[in-house]
Formats: sequence, structure tokens, C-alpha cells
Amino acid sequence: MNPFRERKNILDAIGRVTRLTFSSDEKASEVMKTCPGCGQKYDSNEWAHADYVCPSCGAYISMTAAERIKKIADEGTFREFNRGRTGYDPIDFPGYEEKIQKMRKDTGLKEAVVTGSCQIGGEKAVLCVMDKRFMMASMGTAVGEKVFLAFEYAVKKKLPIVIFTASGGARMQEGIMALMQMARTSAAAARHDEAGLLYIAVMTDPTTGGVTASFASLADITLAEKGALIGFAGQRVIEQTIGEELPEGFQRADFQREKGFVDMVVERQDMKTVLARLLYMHGRGRSY
Ligand SMILES: [Zn+2]
Repeated sequence: MNPFRERKNILDAIGRVTRLTFSSDEKASEVMKTCPGCGQKYDSNEWAHADYVCPSCGAYISMTAAERIKKIADEGTFREFNRGRTGYDPIDFPGYEEKIQKMRKDTGLKEAVVTGSCQIGGEKAVLCVMDKRFMMASMGTAVGEKVFLAFEYAVKKKLPIVIFTASGGARMQEGIMALMQMARTSAAAARHDEAGLLYIAVMTDPTTGGVTASFASLADITLAEKGALIGFAGQRVIEQTIGEELPEGFQRADFQREKGFVDMVVERQDMKTVLARLLYMHGRGRSY
């Protein structure tokens, strides 16, 4: 095929993507959500139409994994992997089982990450999205396993992978088994890298602890959503440890970009277009 024609088709696909809005056949709940910036209330449909950016003040509202996938994956292309995969309670942590059951009931999720394959602006990719409503998207055995399997699938199918990270870190209720997931997911990311495949991490608010210290920091391209808190330990802990006051905006996306930890800070409305272009350039686009 004429490469210029192909490029035009792809750019058309990207153009279509940016116009994608909330699917009308899906019944959005009428629950009103309050803007964290100005306190205005909007219903789920209005938030979706506004890309989850407050129409009054520009603040970002938390997105669930499902909302994120709907915004990023081309309509009808997302196929979920390992939906029923759950972890376990390796150290018999008091109250953990009950807490997990409550989380499942409240969120409708089995665990804190949703993984699958999809197309983004017509480009095939594996997509993982962490959902911080579920125990602050902490990484236990199930999250580690699902991320690991997503990388493995991407290697097998020679696909790029995009991971939206958001996490409070390793899940302390699973003890050493949670910490082991750091090594496990890092090894999976390394295998994907050795296969010459593209990994894009999108750090969203907040990406901290053992997730920052493992797969979130190992991408070829690290994007951050505007304003996201990104770090390992929290600001207060660092201040107490080093005995110094930290600068304004410390650990926020822009700060991390200035320091070279993040490649690009992306506004939420532009996220899909940016991802589609990066996937295109590193995929079909690389031949010319
Ligand atoms: Zn607002």
C-alpha cells in the first residue's frame, strides 16, 4: 500500500478517535459526582462528555478503570483478560478477606487492575488500567499476576503495551508475597523489552510506592497525567528523613518531567491522541 495513503488513513482514524464520546446505548448512572476543585456537581454522562475534566474550573476527577478504558480504547475493541483472577490471603491478615469482599461489592471489580487487548486509534495494543477505588490500587498477588500475564500476552502477540498506573504501592496485607510482585512484574517488563516491543506507562494520580519502584518506571516512554502525584515515599516521610522542607510542586507530574523522570505531561483530553500517535510512530509508522 502507498505509505502516504496508509498514513492518511491512520491519521483519519486518530481524528475519529478524538471525537469519540460516551456511547449513547450505554446507560450512564445518574449519580452526581462533585468536582474536587470547585464543588460543582455533574452527573456521570456530563463528566464523560467533558472527558472527566471539570467544565467550570478544569480540575480532574478520579476515573474508574472502566471509564478510562472507554475513553482510551476504540469503541467495542476492548477484550478483557483474566477477569475473574483473584489473589489470596497469604499471611492471614486480620480483616483482609472482609475488606476485599467489601471492595468487590463497592466497585464491581475483582481486583485493582483491569487488563486486556484493544485498539487505540486503530493501533493494536495491550492495555492495563489500575483502579484506585480498589484498596488504593495496591499491588498484591492478583495485580502482579494480571500485569505479568498482560506483558506475557503482549510478548506472545508482539504487541505494544500501555499501562495506566495509579497505586498506593505494594499491598501490605499480602506481606512478602506483595513485594515479590515488584520483581515479577519487572521481569515481565524486561522480557517485553528484550523482544523489542514498546511499553508506554501513563502515570496517573497517585503513582507511588512499590508500583513506582517496579513496572511503572520501566517503560520506554513515560507519560504522566497533568497534576499526578508521582513518587516512592510520601513528601512528609522524605521531609522527616532528610530534615529539609521540600519545594512547591514536589513529586507532581511537571516536577518529575523537569527532573527527567517523566518524558511528557499530557492533558487528559489529549491522552488518546497522544497514545495513538506514539503507537503509530513506533508501529506501522517506523517503516518510513
Ligand atoms: Zn470544578
